[in-house]
Amino acid sequence: MTDAKAMEGQDFRQEVRAWLKANFPPSLTGISGLVFQSDVHAAAANSDFQLWRQRVQEKGWGVPTWPTRFGGADLGEAQVRVLADEMTAIGAFNPIRSFGTMMLGPTLLEFGNEAQKLEHLPPIAGHELRWCQGFSEPGAGSDLASLQTRAVDMGDHWLVNGQKIWTSGADQADWCFALVRTDTSRKQGGISFLLIDMKSPGVEARPIILISGSTHFCEVFFNDVKVPKDNLVGEVNQGWTIAKRLLQHERNSLSEVKAEITSLAPLAHRHVGTDALGRIDCPDLRARMVRNAMRHEAYMATVRRFGEEAKNGGSDSAVSTLKNLWSEIIQQRSELLVEILGGNGLGWAGSAYAADELEATRAWLHSKAFSIYGGSYEVQNNITAKRTLGLPG
Ligand SMILES: Cc1cc2nc3c(=O)[nH]c(=O)nc-3n(C[C@H](O)[C@H](O)[C@H](O)COP(=O)(O)OP(=O)(O)OC[C@H]3O[C@@H](n4cnc5c(N)ncnc54)[C@H](O)[C@@H]3O)c2cc1C
Repeated sequence: MTDAKAMEGQDFRQEVRAWLKANFPPSLTGISGLVFQSDVHAAAANSDFQLWRQRVQEKGWGVPTWPTRFGGADLGEAQVRVLADEMTAIGAFNPIRSFGTMMLGPTLLEFGNEAQKLEHLPPIAGHELRWCQGFSEPGAGSDLASLQTRAVDMGDHWLVNGQKIWTSGADQADWCFALVRTDTSRKQGGISFLLIDMKSPGVEARPIILISGSTHFCEVFFNDVKVPKDNLVGEVNQGWTIAKRLLQHERNSLSEVKAEITSLAPLAHRHVGTDALGRIDCPDLRARMVRNAMRHEAYMATVRRFGEEAKNGGSDSAVSTLKNLWSEIIQQRSELLVEILGGNGLGWAGSAYAADELEATRAWLHSKAFSIYGGSYEVQNNITAKRTLGLPG
């Protein structure tokens, strides 16, 4: 057992608390890490954020469960919960989180070979390189195994041709983990998992402009792209198994995000006002806020229970059930937040709105996507029905 893992709960909590006090820049308090994760320009321009990222990276706490030789801190699950709790308590966040840490890293730890781990994990842990996820295609979303992007074995390299869509951050990514078809005679059994350098000749990422004028995701075109043979993860045609695992990590990573949820009560006190007893001055709103907070607490307890059960070989379909519950909780919470802010919760730009109000509007819109990405709400219910409840397909 490593020193870090051996440190008992209370000692570790004290260490975390003291370290956060000394190292978390107060100017970042209460700001969601997602703000910086989704806006590289805002991240680059904020020196406190850069400092915070550097400090967390040095500590290995951006990817706390990873082995130290890959840039992690080798912490156990209980310690990770302490770390998350203490960060939430002071309005801090994990500044290293990315597609690399949430999806590819854990997948490579399980399926990658030693050379792939050594090449790719440390830059992910250090947030030096950005990854995007090349799964969805115009004809393959919920039915992902229909994907058509081809990779042909040319002896000394793979030749990739095809198109991906909804690829978040592809225009800013250095690398893409992609699902490609290596056998056309089988559906799931003809898919492989490739790591593609986005600077390779023949890769083109075209941003999709949203109604807001901003862009979140891209179409990605692969035109005779040569990919080294070493960039195949696992065996040829084993990609579907690896993809399913990665999608579990993607859905699971939501439980990391939930740690940053803070109480809406202070905002409600400020914007809605208080009655003679000091309660939020609207019984109906108050009741709905309490229901949402209770669901959140119950959800957290359930996550912990499923986590323990999974360690003992419990069903992996819990991930789909939890993803849907989480989508509902976060969407309800976003609605409540906008309601609490009133007209101030509908701002898009301009000095009439405070920064947290503008963030609330964006968070509300973004919450709609929770029940789509990583597999839609209906598809997660299908998985729960089939694998947990044993209902017919
Ligand atoms: C913000 C955002 C970011 C994304 N980022 C990425 C990314 O980085 N990389 C990537 O690869 N993809 C990404 N996606 C794509 C996402 O994974 C797909 O949108 C999702 O899997 C659904 O696929 P689709 O859009 O093709 O919808 P479809 O599969 O066409 O589904 C349309 C509707 O039909 C329903 N439906 C489909 N099949 C069934 C069924 N069998 N039973 C019941 N209902 C069904 C769905 O629930 C949905 O409501 C992103 C999506 C969003 C919204």
